[in-house]
Amino acid sequence: MKKSPHVVVIGAGTLGMCTAITLAEQGASVTVIEAQAVASGSSGRSVGVVGTQFTDPFEILLRQHTMRQFRRWEAEGLLHFNHIGYLRLARTGAQMAKFEASVKMQAEAGFRSRLYQADELQQLVPHISADGLAGGIFGPDDGFIDPHQLCMMLADKVRALGGEVRQFCKLLGVTRKPAGYLLETEKGIVEADIVVNAAGAWAPRVAALFGQVLHVRPERHEAVTILLDQPLDYTMPMVMDLVNGEGSGLNFRHEKPHELVAEVHKVDSLEPENPDLYNDQCEEDSKIHLAELLLERVPNLPGARIGRGWAGLYPVTADHRPFVGPVDMSEPTLVTAAGAGGYGIQLAPVIGQIAADWALHGSPVSLPGAEALLPTASRNVPG
Ligand SMILES: Cc1cc2nc3c(=O)[nH]c(=O)nc-3n(C[C@H](O)[C@H](O)[C@H](O)COP(=O)(O)OP(=O)(O)OC[C@H]3O[C@@H](n4cnc5c(N)ncnc54)[C@H](O)[C@@H]3O)c2cc1C
Repeated sequence: MKKSPHVVVIGAGTLGMCTAITLAEQGASVTVIEAQAVASGSSGRSVGVVGTQFTDPFEILLRQHTMRQFRRWEAEGLLHFNHIGYLRLARTGAQMAKFEASVKMQAEAGFRSRLYQADELQQLVPHISADGLAGGIFGPDDGFIDPHQLCMMLADKVRALGGEVRQFCKLLGVTRKPAGYLLETEKGIVEADIVVNAAGAWAPRVAALFGQVLHVRPERHEAVTILLDQPLDYTMPMVMDLVNGEGSGLNFRHEKPHELVAEVHKVDSLEPENPDLYNDQCEEDSKIHLAELLLERVPNLPGARIGRGWAGLYPVTADHRPFVGPVDMSEPTLVTAAGAGGYGIQLAPVIGQIAADWALHGSPVSLPGAEALLPTASRNVPG
């Protein structure tokens, strides 16, 4: 009988652990090695929004696979998915036309969504000001997942499937064997037949240990909580003011009865951050900017004030699509799963599925077309 390969996944964020789960489900022996603790990277700093309100058919296809997995975990009682809905705002007729096409594409993929004209938006968000808006698209089944809880569930699932998650076990060096690798870690040597680089914002550093060049730019993003004097008498869905790069980037959603979480989904600086040494707190100027945008879009929220803030890193590629697959096709045993940008919570299950396909089958057998996510020479370029 053929021995199952030992796959070592580097990084215990959502991408690494979803890859490990799919690998273990297909019979591989899996070890996840993590420099710090589970969820200590970008995954634990996310705001956890999951949605399908996209205007590109490939983005919707990816979410079809991802949602199937989230639904499975929900049905097994493993995952708490807060289905608060997702409202994406449009400012122009052209954006509304794209949303109209999206409603059709989503329906074909099995997702519910519908258009709202500007004068109907208050049915969803009674406090919204529709000034400057043409309307929006709303998906009632979208929502958010607590990213920390998700990571803990994923780590438990890896273990339940017979895999191992070794924390505080940073990869330090690599020796190639005739078949496989000797990985030098903080906790000794680990042997691997196949390696998956899922080290998020650190993925370029891990790639360099293998002599590869990977262009994933760590981009800093901030989030804040908005405290309310009294709970709203409705649930604030996820509201996003950004369509294909146009809009203020403001987004917000309910977190708890007295609390919203808000972000501005745009960055001022394209300078890559040092993932070991960046400011992980929200700056005062950003809080003021966010408060101004919120006052314009949702005036009169009862006693709204800015609460705690934090910052984390989006691992971003030049074309804002993740890298999934080998960087070098002549070395199919070294697979990359990184660069999910602002979508690494919602895309983790499908990225894990595709990465496992490359690792075990040498092509994306479960999702034809996913070759488009390979880190080819034309995609793997500085952003
Ligand atoms: C403020 C904010 C809000 C966000 N909101 C959303 C959202 O609403 N929805 C969404 O889908 N996404 C969101 N994201 C993006 C999402 O968090 C990321 O895309 C995702 O977490 C990336 O996961 P990852 O597994 O690639 O990386 P990480 O979670 O960073 O995991 C990589 C791991 O690799 C480890 N590692 C690094 N080097 C080594 C080494 N040498 N050896 C071993 N281990 C190593 C790190 O310690 C780390 O734990 C948000 C991000 C931020 C910062």
